[in-house]
Amino acid sequence: MKIIGHFTLQSLIVIVLIILADPHVAGRLRAAAPASGFVLIAHGGAGDYSKMTPEQIEMRRTAMVKAIQSGYAILARGGSSLDAVEATIRVMEDSALFDAGRGSYYTREGVPEMDASIMDGRTLQAGSVASLKHIANPIHLARLVMEKTPHVMLVGEGAEKFAKAQGIELVSPYFFFNEREWDRYKNAKAAEEKKKSAAQLKGQEHGTVGVVALDQAGNLAAGTSTGGTEMKMPGRVGDSPILGAGTYANNESCAVSGTGTGEFFMRNVVAADICERVRYLHVSLEQAANDVVMKVLVEQHGDGGVIALDQKGDAAAPFNTPGMMTATVREDGKIRIQGWSKNAKPIIVPATK
Ligand code: ASP
Repeated sequence: MKIIGHFTLQSLIVIVLIILADPHVAGRLRAAAPASGFVLIAHGGAGDYSKMTPEQIEMRRTAMVKAIQSGYAILARGGSSLDAVEATIRVMEDSALFDAGRGSYYTREGVPEMDASIMDGRTLQAGSVASLKHIANPIHLARLVMEKTPHVMLVGEGAEKFAKAQGIELVSPYFFFNEREWDRYKNAKAAEEKKKSAAQLKGQEHGTVGVVALDQAGNLAAGTSTGGTEMKMPGRVGDSPILGAGTYANNESCAVSGTGTGEFFMRNVVAADICERVRYLHVSLEQAANDVVMKVLVEQHGDGGVIALDQKGDAAAPFNTPGMMTATVREDGKIRIQGWSKNAKPIIVPATK
């Protein structure tokens, strides 16, 4: 046996293995390990896009490209996945084209109530907000909760008071007014008055937005922002701001953002389940995401989909609805948009830094 100093080669190997098995060391090593390249994936909601006009679909595609470009620029210059997630979601919230920020669905009382969350896969730090009525960019407030408070989640009035103290303008509910949402609200009300069944009333599309990203340092992050479900009760909170249900990120497993009827995502802790399958069952990300979305959720008639990403840059985007629009960009700068229908041919456009 070859002796190195006082140690045999065997005992040196054992010592190295013990150090690597320490979760803290492993975490640090993983976080620092150079990733194979950066990746950013956004979704604009799962649902039935066939009810939308080609112009509406095109508008959403264009908005997703613009959003992805802002995240791409951050990742390309070495910025963090957390910054890229927030920036991308902000553009989608501002577009008024999705069920988030300015385009949020209305509650049964005719005003939007928004939820959002963001999570850092390197530190497991997270921030979340719910039942906001006067905040233009809920994802930014979620980030501030993460960075400026000892808490993870703030809701309603308390969250808005905190926003004000942070210098964020509280906007009037008119800020969120748009014809499309007003029509959707009126139609849903009218249908309800005619006593249509819950199934008939159910919204055909979800426009929640979510982003997962892997940066050049190998760190994952995830974020989700939503106005929730159509005609929800005031005070109803969905999965999007619930860590482990609609949003989750952990460098040791994966980053996930979900969209669909949140009650199912909460009952099944969908985002965490996908990541924990990867971590403990050692299955591929694709298998974990497919098993949860296409088996667990489908068995319960839970509609929706997820975007999921791991530290290797492997990605999955299963959905059990007729569509889920996603946009993906990697280091090569090609934005690939797809998913507005199962057979939609991906469209590829260049990202500019
Ligand atoms: N998951 C969101 C919620 O239940 C809705 C959606 O994804 O469209 O609040």
